[in-house]
Amino acid sequence: QAKEKGRNRICFYDPLMQENIEHKTTMEHELRMALSKEELILFYQPQVNLEGKIVGVEALLRWNHPQKGLIPPNTFIPLAEETGLIIPVGSWVLHRACQQLSEWKKDFPHQPLHLSINVSAKQFQEASFYETVANAIALSGSDAGSIKLELTESLILDSIHETIAKIEALRLLGVGFSLDDFGTGYSSLSYLKRLPLDELKIDQSFVRDIGHDNNDAMIVKTIIEMAHNFDLDVIAEGVEDKEQFNFLMENGCGLFQGYLFGKPMPPEELERLFLA
Ligand code: C2E
Ligand code: MG
Ligand code: MG
Ligand code: MG
Repeated sequence: QAKEKGRNRICFYDPLMQENIEHKTTMEHELRMALSKEELILFYQPQVNLEGKIVGVEALLRWNHPQKGLIPPNTFIPLAEETGLIIPVGSWVLHRACQQLSEWKKDFPHQPLHLSINVSAKQFQEASFYETVANAIALSGSDAGSIKLELTESLILDSIHETIAKIEALRLLGVGFSLDDFGTGYSSLSYLKRLPLDELKIDQSFVRDIGHDNNDAMIVKTIIEMAHNFDLDVIAEGVEDKEQFNFLMENGCGLFQGYLFGKPMPPEELERLFLA
């Protein structure tokens, strides 16, 4: 094979590609098993207000692989989306996160607490999405008003009417909506204006460079102002230092998430912060 590859300019059989396919198939199989073996877990990252007090958390998925250890979501969510596994995985996330919220509300009744849950476009598009969310809320007995679903701009590939209708239906239950990674996608302002959202989440790529890139600082300012004009809350993600925190505060951002306030952590660890 190697010989042939050397002789021919065009190679139809690409061993690397084959390896990728095999790797993917293995991963898909393992991920399917992971779901039933309860190897998926949720970490939670604090979201804080101007005083640095916890007011919410974002649920972030991890795969606790028996050999490879903790696998971050960016390495398996795309595959889950491609294979459709995101539907059962996403449903598991919704159920687990809502259950956790309801336990926390019971155990820490005085802790202000919103729960943000990431939803991929493919999951949102499923006909059964409304039911899945409604079931997760009902079964856990959690308060829908404390739940926020994080969508991304990739939804603009859908019909705007269907998207709005779906969001509105869930809003009737009390569920809130945030637009994640804002500024990195392609949504037009007219589209944004029509979506019934509660919150914009400034993408961490802009926050990261606030201190040394005037353009990013300007973008962040503009997003905050726009959010206010649209009557939306605004949260910054990826806040890592005081300088970024101050800049955001001075420019009217009221909610913050990032390593400065806490990394994503297991529930027990977060509970210690609730008590602190
Ligand atoms: P995201 O929703 O934008 O989540 C924010 C990511 O930024 C998280 O990465 C978080 O750990 C990381 N992060 C938070 N603060 C900081 C910081 O100060 N500095 C830096 N450098 N990073 C920070 P993570 O947990 O690896 O998740 C990556 C992405 O995977 C998420 O981005 C989200 O798009 C996706 N994801 C995670 N959990 C789920 C899930 O349950 N369902 C779906 N559909 N997607 C998920
Ligand atoms: Mg998110
Ligand atoms: Mg984000
Ligand atoms: Mg992101």
